Amino acid sequence: MNALSPSLQDIASCVSGYDPNALPVAQAQEFIARLVPRVQAVEMVAIRSALGRVLARDIVSAINVPAHDNSAMDGYALRGLDLLPDADTELTVVGTGFAGQQYVGDTVAAGHCVRIMTGAVMPDGLDTVVPQEFVKADAGSDRIRVPAGIVRTGDNRRLAGEDLAKGEAALSAGRLLRPADLGLLASLGQAEVPVLRRLRVAFFSTGDELRSIGEPLDAGCVYDSNRYTLWGMLQRLGVELIDLGVVRDEPAALEAAFRSAAETADAVITSGGVSVGEADHTKQVMASLGDVLFWRIAMRPGRPMAIGRIQSADQGQGKSAILFGLPGNPVAVMVTFYAFVRDALLAMSGATASPLPMLRAASIAPIRKKPGRTEYQRGIVSRTADGQWQVEITGSQGSGILRSMSQANGLVVLHHEQGNVEAGGLVDVLPFDGLV
Ligand code: AMP
Ligand code: MG
Repeated sequence: MNALSPSLQDIASCVSGYDPNALPVAQAQEFIARLVPRVQAVEMVAIRSALGRVLARDIVSAINVPAHDNSAMDGYALRGLDLLPDADTELTVVGTGFAGQQYVGDTVAAGHCVRIMTGAVMPDGLDTVVPQEFVKADAGSDRIRVPAGIVRTGDNRRLAGEDLAKGEAALSAGRLLRPADLGLLASLGQAEVPVLRRLRVAFFSTGDELRSIGEPLDAGCVYDSNRYTLWGMLQRLGVELIDLGVVRDEPAALEAAFRSAAETADAVITSGGVSVGEADHTKQVMASLGDVLFWRIAMRPGRPMAIGRIQSADQGQGKSAILFGLPGNPVAVMVTFYAFVRDALLAMSGATASPLPMLRAASIAPIRKKPGRTEYQRGIVSRTADGQWQVEITGSQGSGILRSMSQANGLVVLHHEQGNVEAGGLVDVLPFDGLV
């Protein structure tokens, strides 16, 4: 996936207003969109395994769905021409059509009708179905009476091919397959589905103060939580995960981790070690293994970030992977993931971009916000008694307070140019439930 990729300099020159030291979120997103390649390899999977995968080719319907005109109701199939405009119509019932077991009598004559069930093929010449609850029928009689004006010609009949016409594109390449799509594929009789291979994503945490679960927590140390939030967010994207653990702040260990990640993965995500004041080796090792930029993004939380390509071996001998070097603070990891990495990984997976649904909610309290940076505050959205969305910011917004993410059900996105928000002012909220 790395043939003829543009250099980071080329990309930067295409992004207007590019400034690595105060990069607006939108410019960073545009840069990343230009940087990332897409997987190409296609594999066939059984239909159920295609859920959440990216469709590799357009699916063209080889059949009409439904294959025949059929009834949308339980009732009586009749000929619209027989209906009297101003009086009840009396018809004689000459047979029955069940779903999957069609009416096989002679062509139905004028003044005759057929008892029909939902999904049953329309008998030849009949074009209208009157639902049974509208019909007056006497027990033991083969006569029915259809009240005047209750149906018009063509009512309650589904036409052949109205769901999918033969030769029509049912689903387009790049589609992230959802439950309805599986049903659609099944309705075409498609047992196997061509999908793009899964993206492989390696991730690890850096920082000498980090301990893994199960290790004693020495003085001044914290448990590594980022690998778990990252694992959760990546898991939901359906990518293949390569967890490289916590890597010591030591050049040889870092180099080995980056090299092995670049060898096996399409993308590498790290957390920690990318801020300006960092004393550790992460930044130097990143820079030495490829083409890497260190950004200061005009956002809060999540200012520092490394982005680029790293190589598994020197002089272009090895494989390359896209690097996302995220900040270390637990909230910053999640926010930068949602702001940049999620869309980038979906694009790398070959998925057609689709904007995340946002809510407009009234802020319960005033919010202080400086123009000139994007802020992602953690919020709890709810509905008022009259059905309007409202949002309340969760307590402390410190970028180390992971509980604020856990309590929240969405991110309040305060855009780059936006200033203070008054109580009752409308803000954009990215609900967590829409993120996958
Ligand atoms: P850094 O970006 O490396 O300067 O880290 C910023 C803050 O995030 C520090 O307080 C780190 O201890 C903390 N931190 C970094 N990585 C992790 C991690 N994997 N889990 C929990 N906290 C972390
Ligand atoms: Mg650190």
